[in-house]
Amino acid sequence: MDLGYLLHLLIPSWNSVAILALFFTYLAVAGSILPGKVVPGVILQDGSRLHYRCNGLISLLLLVGLVGAAAKLDIVSLTVIADRGLELLSTTFLFSFLVTLVLYAVGCKSSNRGSSLKPHVSGNLLDDWWFGIQLNPQFMGIDLKFFFVRAGMMGWLFINLSVFARSIQDGTLSQSMILFQLFCALYILDYFIHEEYMTSTWDIIAERLGFMLVFGDLVWIPFTFSIQGWWLLSNKVELGTAAAIANCCTFVIGYLVFRGANKQKHVFKKDPKVPIWGNPPRVIGGKLLVSGYWGIARHCNYLGDLLLALSFSLPCGMSSPIPYFYPIYLLILLIWRERRDEARCAEKYREIWAEYRTLVPWRILPYIY
Ligand code: NDP
Repeated sequence: MDLGYLLHLLIPSWNSVAILALFFTYLAVAGSILPGKVVPGVILQDGSRLHYRCNGLISLLLLVGLVGAAAKLDIVSLTVIADRGLELLSTTFLFSFLVTLVLYAVGCKSSNRGSSLKPHVSGNLLDDWWFGIQLNPQFMGIDLKFFFVRAGMMGWLFINLSVFARSIQDGTLSQSMILFQLFCALYILDYFIHEEYMTSTWDIIAERLGFMLVFGDLVWIPFTFSIQGWWLLSNKVELGTAAAIANCCTFVIGYLVFRGANKQKHVFKKDPKVPIWGNPPRVIGGKLLVSGYWGIARHCNYLGDLLLALSFSLPCGMSSPIPYFYPIYLLILLIWRERRDEARCAEKYREIWAEYRTLVPWRILPYIY
């Protein structure tokens, strides 16, 4: 593909603007009216806490149903995202850029002193735009941070499904494509089933909403995590039975560690007495869990996520590094994030954290790192 043609494909069109606008409008309406468990967020510095309506799963299933029905009636084409991938990418990028300029301007003007809306202005325009000014900015009562994560995760699934439809139409559907689609779909569905766990993650509780997060949620997650699918559209892979079984095992082990670790911490934060693996939890300083996965490594949840990421790429075989973009990126991100979280926890928990480090010396992978 020559560069001129590639650039041409990147030019946003009104169609891609309409697709994005429809998607966001649907999410805003569905998120506001569909039923869902209302979950209190963590207590913020000023003692306040936000509440999140976790209706992502029902919003997702309804949207899948609506798109399916619209395709049956020939109103939309299931391959529209796969066919217009690059222009959707550039449109979403432009949207992220513009929306973060607005967030910057609104944040700077805010006179709110509450933890969620208090402006954090360093004076360095680039820094403030990149990292954001406010912790939890809202628009028409919608928590934008929660909204964008949801949009990114759903966008990832819809890109995959469209690529899947394209491979069926092209007659290139392979075992590799099915495995990739299955693993990603299960991961995304699981994310929405456990959407409430998101309310206590680092992004939600500690990062301000700037270009870094908005771009990460809306562009990076959906468009780069789906690279394997795009790659499989034009590359044939013959997976042997043993490789397919090993691939499934990587997914299952990754899932058990990832979900198990995140669930143990989430449940522990709500009730520190709930048994872990059948025994009363071991706790230090009344605050840090040392049982279960949290007694094996200080961030076992990252290990699970890395195994899952690997399982999404293994269906593509070993002939090219391109489908391994996601696990490689995640490895770098999680090592960096673990260091930042370590520094945050060392400052917050002080001697309790030092004791935790002694009891659980491994950061992510026991005996290796
Ligand atoms: P964690 O869910 O690991 O949260 C870290 C926080 O948990 C710490 O700051 C501390 O917060 C608390 N904590 C740490 N150790 C303990 C302990 N032993 N007992 C009790 N509390 C503890 O971090 P993230 O939010 O970074 O990750 C959440 C999930 O999201 C992970 O599974 C990660 O893999 C995934 N993720 C995926 C990404 C992707 O691109 N696929 C990107 C980023 C994350 P406190 O002050 O509340 O105690």
